[in-house]
Amino acid sequence: MQGYLADHGIDINAVAAKATTATYYSTYFEGNLRESDIIAWMGNETLGTVLGSNRAVTLVDAFGKYPDVVVIGYQYFTQISAGPDLATSQNITLVHEAIHNALSADDTRVASQMGLGNFPDTPGGVDAASIAISAFLATCYQ
Ligand SMILES: [Zn+2]
Repeated sequence: MQGYLADHGIDINAVAAKATTATYYSTYFEGNLRESDIIAWMGNETLGTVLGSNRAVTLVDAFGKYPDVVVIGYQYFTQISAGPDLATSQNITLVHEAIHNALSADDTRVASQMGLGNFPDTPGGVDAASIAISAFLATCYQ
């Protein structure tokens, strides 16, 4: 994966460092926590609301900074997404979120930086960018 990611502008060591320093929350146990309970300058939405129907989300504060906090939930634990099996899907999700924190960048900016395409900053564009990132990461596991 190291060469693949380096070829796409990603420093795997920076990503790995973020993955190990990140704080992870699960909506199974912490879904009623509010963002502001975790990080100053965050909103008052609960983690469950912030995650919605997504597998995982990286929190971004009111200043656009990435405080290295990842929220995971039902889909992360139970649904295969990118990759052939649940464990691989979970790994891809964690690397995906660590990339957000390593680059301090959202899905459209990460996808662009990785050369995966330029996606519009619309809900559909963000979703498509997110899928492209995880699909690329899945190719790293083949
Ligand atoms: Zn993403």
